Amino acid sequence: VRIKGDYRYELGELSSTLNYMAQEIVRSNQVKDDFISSISHELRTPLTSIKGWSETLNVGGYDPEETKLGMQIITKETDRLIGLVEELLDFAKLQQNEMKLVMSSVNLKELLQEIILNLWAKAEQKGVKILLESEEKPVIHGDANRLKQIFLNIVDNAVKFSHENGVITLSFTMEEKFVTVTVRDQGIGISEEHLRRVKDRFFQVNPLNGGTGLGLAITQQLVELHHGSMEMESVLGEGTSVMVRLPLPEGEPPGA
Ligand code: ADP
Repeated sequence: VRIKGDYRYELGELSSTLNYMAQEIVRSNQVKDDFISSISHELRTPLTSIKGWSETLNVGGYDPEETKLGMQIITKETDRLIGLVEELLDFAKLQQNEMKLVMSSVNLKELLQEIILNLWAKAEQKGVKILLESEEKPVIHGDANRLKQIFLNIVDNAVKFSHENGVITLSFTMEEKFVTVTVRDQGIGISEEHLRRVKDRFFQVNPLNGGTGLGLAITQQLVELHHGSMEMESVLGEGTSVMVRLPLPEGEPPGA
């Protein structure tokens, strides 16, 4: 084989491509290893608590207040486990293209009001206010439960990463064929480098915050199943905005 001129260039290019691919494989294995260790931790924490409290209650002899507290913790931790398993199942379904939507007319304003109520106690603990700013009442065609999951995840992140007494605003922007829901927080923000990766599956800026890093990856795919798109803007130390753009049903005036 004569190796000269262009060939040498091609070989050089091939070797750097292979090098790059090898690095990517190492990186993706690292991401999977991190995921397995974070999911194991997420599973073990509630299980340890459930086991501890059920053994304690089994011994008996506690007053009704202590017994009630133990039962409440067991229920809360079991809910956490169910949520985690559901998230993993949703992720697997989306990966295999098996997520089916149950379509109906969905009033987005009512849906966001419901989400504010769901997260009220959690926000209240940090003194965080969640405000719904628009007068619009957009109605879209979509899967009510999945749309709720989309906005619950985004607003839940906004609460989680808000500072004490922060304000989160939810608003609609109407266009002829689309509505954009914006969720803006004044929280810790995300650096430019991390912002590029937050929608990747398994990615977390700080794995010590808990969670699986699947939330936004699932959210993005659910938005796309609704023929919409999701964008994020953020300034580190100032806050984050998440914009979800969804199609309005054909032939209906915006805000109807
Ligand atoms: P998880 O399911 O673990 O919460 P997500 O996919 O929802 O993960 O989010 C990925 C990462 O993006 C989070 O771990 C966090 O670092 C960052 N993030 C998401 N939303 C916000 C936000 N509103 N403000 C700051 N960081 C955020």
